[in-house]
Amino acid sequence: MRLVDSHCHLNADRFDDDLERVVESARAGGLERLLVPGWNVRSCERALDIVGRLPALDAAVGVHPHDAAKVDDAGWARVAASARDPVVVAIGETGLDYDRVFSPIPDQLANLRRNLALALETGKPAILHCRSATGRSDGQDALLHELRAARVGGASWTAAFGARPPAVVHSFSGSVGYARAMLDLGLAVSFSGLVFRRGEEASAEVAALVPAERLLVETDSPFLAPPGAPRARNEPEWVRVTATWAATQRGMDPEALGPAFVVAYDRTFPRSRPRPAALDAD
Ligand SMILES: [Zn+2]
Repeated sequence: MRLVDSHCHLNADRFDDDLERVVESARAGGLERLLVPGWNVRSCERALDIVGRLPALDAAVGVHPHDAAKVDDAGWARVAASARDPVVVAIGETGLDYDRVFSPIPDQLANLRRNLALALETGKPAILHCRSATGRSDGQDALLHELRAARVGGASWTAAFGARPPAVVHSFSGSVGYARAMLDLGLAVSFSGLVFRRGEEASAEVAALVPAERLLVETDSPFLAPPGAPRARNEPEWVRVTATWAATQRGMDPEALGPAFVVAYDRTFPRSRPRPAALDAD
């Protein structure tokens, strides 16, 4: 099956000792695209280092809501400067987390706004994390409000992105209504192993309604192991579990859906530099 992983933190410490082996297993498992997002200053720099070593991979730089209060202006300036690097194909991950609230909400909002501004300025899509407090939709409601306030989908975004998605809903979590609102703004939707967790049942219906050219899958490695994957450390090759699930929701043969993931990935994250033929050909 042809596969992509639109979101894997191979820049996490847990991959220090065997990164090359993990990428080789991914390649052997059919993965043709891997996107490594940062979450703070150091992890953004590490994402760039990894793509320097393995040029078939892509990087994203941005600040996660958990780190919103920890990244100062000087740190942000470094992240924003690196966003211009041609190996960077997206801004993120950023977003809102009203579940764990590791950074105060006003800091999360300020952080989200500057990440969105950077996405608009660079023409690179924002990668959006969003979690609500248990049993609520406060995070999704606030994120939707922020995207509308930033005029995502409006004239300036259309000028910067054309028909491409201006942002990606990473590791989708939420209701069908929320998904429809995000799709109306032109966003792409990426599913992770989160879809198998209790409380995420709406994801099945959402997976059937996302247009194929905006449908992505991811692992969020080393987190969110799907059924069958090692709980201690998820890896990109396990994206096949979520990809197969997505195909099932769409009434499709997984093999037939694979090429669409590659097309959706390339449309969402276009590269300005040539891609090596195979992930291990670096
Ligand atoms: Zn992530």
